[in-house]
This record gives sequence, C-alpha cells and structure tokens, in this order.
Amino acid sequence: MKTYLVTGGAGFIGANFLKYKLKQNREDKYIVLDKLTYAGNLGTIKEDFKDSRVSFIKGDICNKELIENIFMNHDIDTVVNFAAESHVDRSIEDPGIFLKTNILGTQILMDVAKQHWSIAKDDKGYPVYKDGKKFLQVSTDEVYGSLCREYPEGKELAVTNDQMKRILKDRESIPKVFGNEFFTEETPLDPRSPYATSKTGADMLVRAYDETYHFPVNVTRCSNNYGPYHFPEKLIPLIIKNILEGKKLPVYGDGKQVRDWLYVEDHCKGIDMVIDGGRLGEAYNIGGFNEETNINIVKMTIDTIKKLVTCDKEKIKDEYKGIVKCNIEDINYDLITYVQDRLGHDARYAIDPTKTVKELGFYPETPFIVGIEKTIKWYLDNQEWVNDVVSGDYAKYYENMY
Ligand code: NAD
Repeated sequence: MKTYLVTGGAGFIGANFLKYKLKQNREDKYIVLDKLTYAGNLGTIKEDFKDSRVSFIKGDICNKELIENIFMNHDIDTVVNFAAESHVDRSIEDPGIFLKTNILGTQILMDVAKQHWSIAKDDKGYPVYKDGKKFLQVSTDEVYGSLCREYPEGKELAVTNDQMKRILKDRESIPKVFGNEFFTEETPLDPRSPYATSKTGADMLVRAYDETYHFPVNVTRCSNNYGPYHFPEKLIPLIIKNILEGKKLPVYGDGKQVRDWLYVEDHCKGIDMVIDGGRLGEAYNIGGFNEETNINIVKMTIDTIKKLVTCDKEKIKDEYKGIVKCNIEDINYDLITYVQDRLGHDARYAIDPTKTVKELGFYPETPFIVGIEKTIKWYLDNQEWVNDVVSGDYAKYYENMY
C-alpha cells in the first residue's frame, strides 16, 4: 500500500489522475493538496471524497510549514506534482505568480520530501533515501520551445523513427505530421513564454536535485491534453462552451499553430507507468500521436458537436434541448473569428514518446476522433459543472480578454 500526495488534484489533469488511480481498486491512499485557484474546483472531485482512500487539504505548495505538517503526519511515498499556474495567456499578463508557484513551489515540495525521505549519507556524502520514494514532476512539451518559427503546412506522414512507425501501424488511420522533427528527451530546453519558462525552471531544479542530492525524481513532459473537467479557458472546452451558447469562436492568428493532442486518461496512464517503472533521474515524453492545427481542431469540434446533438431530421435531440442554446443551422464554421495572435506564439510542438513506449510500454490508446466525441459528450452531460466553474473569477477574466 502506498500513500500519494497529489498536488493540484482539483485541477484538470490532477483530478483525472486521481479518478484513474481510484478505478484501479488498490488500497493506496491519496492526499490531495490544492490551493483552489480559479482553475481548481472541488466540485470536480467531490464524488471522490466519498471514497475513504481520499483526503483533501486546501493549501499552497509554497507554504513550507503546511508541507512539513503533511509529511510529518503521513508517510508519503510518492509526490505527483500537478500544482501549477498553467495558462500561457495568463502568464503573458502576469508572469510573477507563475514563477512563484511553478518554480518555488516545486523547490519547497522537493526540499521537504528530501528532508523526510533521507535516512543516511553514503561514503561520498550523498543522501540515501528510504526505499520506494519518488517525486514526479508533471511537465510539458512547451519546455522544448518551438520546432519551427513559421506555421508549417500539413504533410503526409513522414515519421522517420522506426519505433514510431511500428507502433503507428496498429492505428486505423495514420495521423499526418507537420515535419520530420520531434521533441525527444534529449532536445535542449528552449522555452519561449513566461509559462514555459517557469515550467523549465522547475524541470532544471528537479534535475539539479537528482544530480546534487541523488533525490529520487522523474519528469514527464506531455503534449496538449484534452478531456473531461478541462477548464473552459483552454481551446477545446472554450470552443465547446461557445458553440453551445452560439457565441463566436476566437482563434489566434490564422489558426495554423500545430499541437499534439493527448486524451487526458492516456496521459494519466503514462504518468502512472513512469511512477511505477521510470528509471530514477530520467525524463519521459508522453505524446498523443495526433498533430493538428488549431483551426482544424476547432472545425472538428464544430462538426462533432453538430453530429452529436442532432437527430436525423437536423433537429436538436430532446436530451440536449436547453443545453444547445442556439439554432442548429447556426452551428457552422461562420462562428470562427480570427483574433490577434498570441505574443510569441510557438508554431509547432510535436512529441516523440519512443523512450516511454520502449521502456514502459506506453501507448496513447485514444484516437482523436474517439477522444473528442467522449469529451464533447461529457461536456453536454455535465453543464452544471461548467456553469459552476465559470461563475467565479473566470467570468471577469474572459470579459477582459475578448
Ligand atoms: P490546471 O490549471 O487545470 O490545474 C492546476 C491545479 O493546481 C488547480 O487545481 C489549482 O488550484 C492548483 N494550484 C495552482 N497553484 C497552486 C499552489 N500554489 N498550490 C497548490 N495548488 C495550486 O492545470 P492542468 O491542466 O491540470 O495541468 C496540470 C499540470 O500539467 C501542470 O503542471 C501543467 O503545467 C502540466 N501540463 C498541462 C498540460 C495541459 O494540456 N493541460 C499539458 C502539459 C503539461
């Protein structure tokens, strides 16, 4: 039996990770620590509190005294650090809180864990830790920077890597890629936005703790996640929400920015594999094999919503009346409105997860077409959650942005 400290567990990926782990029916315990910023929502995990394996603490990862208390009162085996300020646009407006939470918060968590986990020193003076302890830092492909400066045009699949070719053969449709270059774990870190820079700072610190103190760490770097419980300021949930309300769909620049999209449950599975089998000190890329331009993601979301909410005579299905607040004929590409591009917008991210596939058997099982349908259905069936999370600070923030 293990005890996990899941920081940021009331946010999008952290909450999905908690639900994923609970479904495994193990006796492990989960302590969720979350500051409940605008992005954290207790409603997301309220059902999980009914499970005696879960407990919740409202608090800040930068609060050293609180973290000390948690480690004193619980024998934590694994820290999974999801807690972060995570929205690039917000980091452009106000970088300070990103540096504080994402870098200093990570350092405080590691410092306290190091102190509680170390039991001796080896003959060279490095700390020796209790068995089975691990700190997992959840990071992002954005730490690698952009694969190109110009927005690339779509090409047929041209994956040069043999391992990727072999695993892609299992898929019904081979995804297109937008270039032959991919981020591997060896790619130098080269962040461009304040958000990416803060995540990079944390990654470097984690590496420094491994080198300097032999602290037991792994870093995972994943591509853009999508799925249930995603806060509607990020592209896919924002687009779903606006379509249902008949509002315009803001797309940055010409929408040709390329991202790799990963269904959140596949990401959680990858994280779990790294916790269980990742070699200490290593970084692991977790990708979705699904590169696409932002504009095509928006168009696919429009098409899928239309398909899901209509019945054969192009009428809204009974169960979605009241949820779809516009005329069905108005759900079309005319909703798209191009807005000024994000400052310093990275052109293309693409992950090569071969190392994680080879070493740990990771595979992103959910093709985008399946994942986007599951996601949209979830949002259609969980409007109460959406209304709940947008009723707070987010509403004001959104008004100022668009
Ligand atoms: P999110 O914004 O949905 O959730 C972050 C959570 O952290 C929220 O619940 C928030 O309340 C909490 N939090 C913020 N500051 C805190 C603090 N000081 N102390 C304690 N809790 C705090 O983010 P997410 O999308 O779930 O991302 C989780 C992690 O995954 C982040 O580290 C992010 O950088 C990384 N990541 C996300 C994506 C993505 O596509 N969403 C992609 C790659 C990496």
